Amino acid sequence: MPSKSKLGQNFLRDDQAIGRIVAALGDCSDRTVVEIGPGTGAITRELAAKAGKVLALEYDRELASRLTAELSGGPAQQGAVSVQSKVEVITIDVLSFDFAAAAAAANQRLIVVGNLPYYITSPILLRLAEYADVLDRAVLMVQREVADRVAGVPGSRDYGLLSVAVQMHGPVEPLFTLPPSAFSPPPEVYSTVFRWRFAPRFKELEVDRKPFLKFLRQIFAAKRKTLANNLRAAGVDPSMVADALSKADIDLKARAEAVSVESLAALWRILKTNGATPKNEVAPLIDLS
Ligand code: SAM
Repeated sequence: MPSKSKLGQNFLRDDQAIGRIVAALGDCSDRTVVEIGPGTGAITRELAAKAGKVLALEYDRELASRLTAELSGGPAQQGAVSVQSKVEVITIDVLSFDFAAAAAAANQRLIVVGNLPYYITSPILLRLAEYADVLDRAVLMVQREVADRVAGVPGSRDYGLLSVAVQMHGPVEPLFTLPPSAFSPPPEVYSTVFRWRFAPRFKELEVDRKPFLKFLRQIFAAKRKTLANNLRAAGVDPSMVADALSKADIDLKARAEAVSVESLAALWRILKTNGATPKNEVAPLIDLS
């Protein structure tokens, strides 16, 4: 079946990489694993052998029904537990999938895996972040440059809104990178697999999730501006800015990209205490590119 490039269909054909992705999930023998975009089932089959249950979310109707048919008639049925009984292929846009309901039905936090369709990488990461409380860990393949940003550290070239927004929901660990030749058809970019252990930091940093994420969008709004200028542009009373930055121990000339998340949280708390968190609206957190 020809791949649909608009659905990000670059199928993994490197068996070693498939083994490494599934191994990176750790023991999932009694766990429900959600696979995003199973495609032709490259990862799904290996996963079915290792996981308690697999929910495979595929948007492409044709691929989903083909995978369902293949898994139900596959040779694994000769084993003790059939692949068919373990894998549920669900035809759905992952951006509409209710991870909380699935976790409640499984009575456990979910594990997620996926060679992501690259055209909606950021929205998928944000959706997972939203459900961080019901997720345990994820192993995801994304475009290398995106993985660099997801795992970026303050002060590095790759650090920005995407890094903080993701890392506020748990630490990220890049695992390995694959060349375009590992896929069919080959994409134009290299791909990196990373692990994300969900452990939201909002409580520990004493910030409220929604307003703090909005604050991050405001202070990262204009890349070349200093944090102070972004704060003023977002509507913080200019007379408060220097004082709040100094109390949070942040250089007046610093850009948000150079400041640790702990210091940004301290700044938000100080502004909040003074009733001075920025009020201006900001674009929603959809496109983090
Ligand atoms: N897992 C397979 C592999 O590694 O060979 C396929 C990976 S391919 C990069 C991405 C898959 O995501 C495709 O099967 C594509 O049809 C599917 N997909 C695209 N958009 C989707 C969406 N919104 N929700 C769920 N799946 C989607």
